[in-house]
Formats: sequence, structure tokens, C-alpha cells
Amino acid sequence: MSASGTLYVISAPSGAGKSSLIKAYLKQAVAKAAVSVSHTTRSPRPGEIDGEHYHFVDHAKFEDMIEQDDFFEWAKVFDNYYGTSKAAIEQTLEQGYDVFLDIDWQGARQVKQLKPDAKSIFIAPPSQAALLTRLLNRRQDSEEVINKRMAEAHSEISHYTEFDYIIVNDEFELALSELTAILIANRCSQAKQAKKYQALFDDLLAKG
Ligand code: GDP
Ligand code: ADP
Ligand code: 5GP
Repeated sequence: MSASGTLYVISAPSGAGKSSLIKAYLKQAVAKAAVSVSHTTRSPRPGEIDGEHYHFVDHAKFEDMIEQDDFFEWAKVFDNYYGTSKAAIEQTLEQGYDVFLDIDWQGARQVKQLKPDAKSIFIAPPSQAALLTRLLNRRQDSEEVINKRMAEAHSEISHYTEFDYIIVNDEFELALSELTAILIANRCSQAKQAKKYQALFDDLLAKG
């Protein structure tokens, strides 16, 4: 039986580049990997597709899902609800995929408690000025929303010591190599390899 995948929590202040890094990694992934599609009550940005970027739902539906215990984790971020449904991750992990959760620090904490073998990665911007420039260049949020996200950045960044790995996303290709290195190294861990190559080791250790 092949080993199940690893759950990766990726957190960062808005605009640090986590979505771009995850997307670029998935394009060139050497092993099976997927990103979990969250549910959110925020409105879609131009170009965002329901079911692909998020499952966009209203407050009533989200609260109903909380009631039904459908969420693996959820949090209120920037006045909206965001959550990872159990359905979004369980089967995919079992099929051997590494699964990325692009979630905030509150969600990261919940995941670490629920699944101690999950790995967490914090993505930092190279400077405050770069963060603001990226949010402005993305041209997808209003000035009011951008100001709110810059104000929230401090709170998100203050949790950086809670993560297993840190990547500073200055030069994009370098940050992408660092992300790739973390995933590959983890795939080579003793626990994963022993499970994946059990038949090989049985054979290597067979007498005669
Ligand atoms: P981004 O920061 O530009 O990627 O903007 P988004 O609107 O996509 O995400 C807003 C915040 O919600 C970020 O801090 C995300 O990490 C967080 N977030 C997104 N999905 C989830 C989720 O499923 N669970 C939790 N806990 N947080 C999430
Ligand atoms: P997040 O998902 O963390 O909110 P995004 O991935 O949407 O961030 O990135 C925010 C903006 O910054 C995007 O316009 C993206 O193209 C740009 N960006 C991401 N990484 C870099 C980088 N290393 N250098 C310059 N711009 C970047
Ligand atoms: P955005 O509105 O820019 O798409 O996301 C804002 C923030 O919400 C980001 O920091 C993102 O990581 C976080 N976020 C998105 N989905 C989830 C989720 O399912 N759970 C949690 N906890 N945070 C999420």
C-alpha cells in the first residue's frame, strides 16, 4: 500500500505570495499534490471561479455547515468566514496526494492540534513596502480592503515562530525551490519511505 500524503498548512500575510507559490509548485510537482478548496463567505474577486478558487457560500450556509460538523477547521478572517471542509482533504490525502491548505494562523493552529503530523510553512514578504506593492499590483481589492489587509499583516506575521518552516518570498524562483525542497525532503522521511518501500526492504532483508 502506498503511504498517504502530507497535509501542508501555508500561511502568510495577504499578498506575500502563497497562492502564487502553491500554483507554481502544482505546475511542476514531481509527486502527487493538490490544493484544498476552502469555503468562504467573501465575494468572488474578478476572475475567481466558484468551486475552483473557493466554494463561495452565504453566511447562513456556512453556519449550517458549522452546525453539521462539516469543517475540519474554520476561522473568521477580515470579517468573513473561511473554512476547510473535511470532504476537501480526507480522501485526497488517502489517495497519496500532498494537500496544501492556504489558511490563516488561526486555522494553522487548529490543524496542528487535530493533525500533529501536518507540516506548517510560513511565507514572509521581503519588506512591508513590497507587501503593499504586491497588494496594489494584484489590482483585485479596493483601497479599503487593502488597508485592512495591511493592518492585519502585523497580526499574521506575529505568529511566525509557530511554524515548522519559513520561506521569505523575495526572489520568486528561489522561494519556489525552497518550497519544493521541503516537500521532497518530507517525502524521503523514514516513516514515509519505510511504508512505501516495505516490499523492497522485505526483499533486501530476505535470507538466502
Ligand atoms: P489572500 O490572503 O490574498 O490569499 O486572500 P484570501 O481572501 O484568499 O484569504 C484570506 C485569509 O483567509 C487568508 O489569511 C487565508 O489564509 C485565510 N483562509 C483561506 N482559506 C482558509 C481556510 O480554509 N481556513 C482558514 N482558517 N483560513 C483560510
Ligand atoms: P497571497 O496568496 O499570499 O495573498 P498572491 O500569490 O496573490 O498572494 O501574490 C500577491 C501578488 O504578488 C500577486 O500579484 C503576485 O503575482 C505577486 N508576487 C508573488 N510573489 C512575488 C515575488 N516573489 N516577487 C514579486 N511579486 C510577487
Ligand atoms: P482572500 O480573501 O484573500 O482569498 O483570503 C484571506 C485570508 O483567508 C488568507 O490569509 C487565506 O489564507 C485565508 N483563508 C482562506 N481560506 C481559508 C480557510 O479555509 N480557513 C482559514 N482559516 N483561512 C482561510
